[in-house]
Amino acid sequence: MAKITKEDALRYHAEGRPGKLEVATTKPHSTQRDLSLAYSPGVAHPCLEIEKNFDDIYKYTSKGNLVAVISNGTAVLGLGDIGAGAGKPVMEGKGFLFKIFADIDVFDIEIDNKNVDAIVETVKNIAVTFGGINLEDFKAPECFEVEERLKREVQIPLMHDDQHGTAIICSAGIINALELSGKKLDEAKIVISGAGAAAIACANLIISLGAKKENMIMLDSKGAIRADRNDLNKYKASFVTHRNVRTLAEAIAESDIFLGLSQANLVSKEMVKSMAKNPVIFAMANPDPEIPYDEAMSVRTDLIMATGRSDFPNQVNNVLGFPYIFRGALDVRATCINEEMKLAAVYALARLAKEAVPESVSKAYNATNLIFGREYIIPKPLDPRLIYTVAPAVAQAAMDSGVARKPIEDWDQYKLELSQ
Ligand code: NAP
Ligand code: MG
Repeated sequence: MAKITKEDALRYHAEGRPGKLEVATTKPHSTQRDLSLAYSPGVAHPCLEIEKNFDDIYKYTSKGNLVAVISNGTAVLGLGDIGAGAGKPVMEGKGFLFKIFADIDVFDIEIDNKNVDAIVETVKNIAVTFGGINLEDFKAPECFEVEERLKREVQIPLMHDDQHGTAIICSAGIINALELSGKKLDEAKIVISGAGAAAIACANLIISLGAKKENMIMLDSKGAIRADRNDLNKYKASFVTHRNVRTLAEAIAESDIFLGLSQANLVSKEMVKSMAKNPVIFAMANPDPEIPYDEAMSVRTDLIMATGRSDFPNQVNNVLGFPYIFRGALDVRATCINEEMKLAAVYALARLAKEAVPESVSKAYNATNLIFGREYIIPKPLDPRLIYTVAPAVAQAAMDSGVARKPIEDWDQYKLELSQ
């Protein structure tokens, strides 16, 4: 991939109409009659229908295909707390990806406030506008409370993508990596570097998939999460280890899986060597992983490795998840995004990686080796099958778990529509 310069990126954002999104109209507007239908007096009729029957809002407005990407800019990419306004290019970027991958319209909303009560109140008050809410780049641990409280307040699909999107893609990769390494998740010894938004969510989701908490050691910037520490928030505290380890080097020895959601260059070659046979390393710190791909792979031949980077095999990229998770959730008018829907997305992604890859995908990546194996355990972002694989799986899980308000009746038709 050609290197992108600062100038390239700034020009891309500034040229033409500034930013990456615009609002488009969907109805005729060439005559006086059209204008009277679109606005006064005609518009009063759908208003009154919705007043009588709230669900008609989905029939007469854009709500059903509109997602709010909401951030307060406190944990933007790897840039940290840069402020709500400075995070706007990222939120517009997320809207851009929702649109191109799943034809979902997005309003990005930047909240200039760090107070949890104020954020919850703001989102709750504007939720009526939207079919779904993607919380983005809120810092830990506040992000956990914001999401937990909002899930109780709103009856539409809502997800903090930095937590659950990451956890879903990571889990799909882990399932496939373990299949290749001949190991079982419920027996695997797992080390998790990081105890923030992504790490806590990944740990919880792999537990839902069968991993055992007692086989996990989680570390934050101060070392292993241990019972004798008195600086732990309640989310970290639920992962205390009773093993007598303090450092990453101690924790990683003889482990089967390393999940990195922390910072660059924390894992040494010696640490990779010290892992059990057929180890799995997902070093997902962005933009630079906990250990560079090549460096880790140079240590041993039995390693399966994934990173957050597009220039190496096995990229854990959230874009594999959020467009299609919301697509499926919106299409059945789900009242939430629950555990069953997340797991359905995990299994759909894991299964897709095992299917023969269409030539168009190989061409898009200039690759000849996209066959299920060590270097291809996760589907590629430009795979056109993602939408009609993941979205229906999520929709089906919403229906099966009783949270779909508008079940899909004709699955073949639905998948056909998604594939067009
Ligand atoms: P976060 O909430 O800020 O969490 C970062 C965590 O890393 C914190 O728990 C922090 O410890 C810990 N940490 C910092 N230095 C450490 C060290 N030396 N050893 C062990 N832990 C250390 O951030 P996040 O949103 O979870 O993201 C974490 C990382 O994952 C970022 O690099 C992000 O880019 C990456 N990420 C990648 C993907 C992807 O590949 N798809 C998705 C999401 C996130 P304290 O709690 O002590 O501060
Ligand atoms: Mg994010």
